[in-house]
Amino acid sequence: MNRRLEEIVSSPFPAPRNPLENEAHAPPRPAGLLEREDLPRLFDALKRAGYRIVGPTVRDGAIVYGEVGAVDDLPVGWTERQEAGRYRLERRPDAAVFGFNLGPQSWKKYLFPPRTRLWTAETRDGSFQVTPEPPDEGAPYAFLGMRACELSALSITDRVFTGGVVDPVYQGRRARILRIAVECGQSAPTCFCTSMGTGPGADGGFDLSLTELLSPGRHVFWVRTASEAGERLASELPLRPGGPDDLRSREELLDRAAREQRRKLPADRVRGLLLDHLEDPHWEEVAQRCLSCGNCTMVCPTCFCSTTEEVPSLDLARVEHWRRWDSCFNLAFSQLHTVSIRTGIKSRYRQWIDHKLATWHDQFGSSGCVGCGRCITWCPVGIDLTEEVAALERADPASRLPAAGGKA
Ligand code: SF4
Ligand code: SF4
Repeated sequence: MNRRLEEIVSSPFPAPRNPLENEAHAPPRPAGLLEREDLPRLFDALKRAGYRIVGPTVRDGAIVYGEVGAVDDLPVGWTERQEAGRYRLERRPDAAVFGFNLGPQSWKKYLFPPRTRLWTAETRDGSFQVTPEPPDEGAPYAFLGMRACELSALSITDRVFTGGVVDPVYQGRRARILRIAVECGQSAPTCFCTSMGTGPGADGGFDLSLTELLSPGRHVFWVRTASEAGERLASELPLRPGGPDDLRSREELLDRAAREQRRKLPADRVRGLLLDHLEDPHWEEVAQRCLSCGNCTMVCPTCFCSTTEEVPSLDLARVEHWRRWDSCFNLAFSQLHTVSIRTGIKSRYRQWIDHKLATWHDQFGSSGCVGCGRCITWCPVGIDLTEEVAALERADPASRLPAAGGKA
């Protein structure tokens, strides 16, 4: 690697401390088995506790996150077929409640909303008054159906928004959520959480976790807790003790989901590989395909770039200051003193993947990628970051990966 660059990226930034990390570190404890027919009792308990329940639901031909009031609002009996640049909903042959993987949206839309008004300024009686936006005082959210990779994404955005400079919008919302995980019993072809160490099982970072065990004559949820809030919730559910067979069923389910994964990233080597290939001709080739649409950044659960804009009233007596999601694929994103410094798609794609997989380690102490695969599925031209990394490895004489590269 270029020595100067090595000095810059290896400078001893301590990984910022996550002030919410104690919450995430309680070890999971088995709580018991919940029968499928008793799942409505979970909704009842959450409503009694005053939560707004958000979870997966079918809308506009996709499984998205939205407010759900009952089990029937969940995608019961639905699954999806995903590939690079392709997503289709399909009916399942069974009545699995969580028999799908991930849709285009992530939970960040609730904690870091796509548009947020930050303050309003008004002229009144010759004076000028600025009023900050009050914090969200609505009912707290219960996030129902967080996958293991999404719990990892949450711990990453915790670091980004509360580990150094604290973002009050994120922190205020984040401090009030209840995290109900659902472990993955299957993997989409675009998933690669196993190689990133983020799934498919949830090892912690949740309040309550469900594992759906479905076989002929049996439909139950293996319930675990990892916080006091989770234990309180579990105490309101009609749980019965689980046994070694249930535990074995869970382990087999997670093993199968992990074995299904065809994509992977060399998580331990990818940072050095990317920083060693900043001028690789491969980036020109990617730029021929990339539309610079920014879809990959919009669907990514950890991308956090934003911009601000003023929205004045017609009489100019009032102006609102809004924050909205931005993307490093936008030409104006890198504008310095009226000049964009990343004018080509090559430099914008390279910036995105290098930050996500390499320099994020130096900035935040971890990868910025959790292997959810959304950027692969929702790229309109099917660009696949695992394939781009594999292409660099194949071209690198020092590479130790087999020629098959990004797929196991
Ligand atoms: S990689 Fe795909 S999703 Fe991302 S900007 Fe390029 S074309 Fe759009
Ligand atoms: S970079 Fe792609 S695979 Fe990684 S977390 Fe973001 S959307 Fe998921």
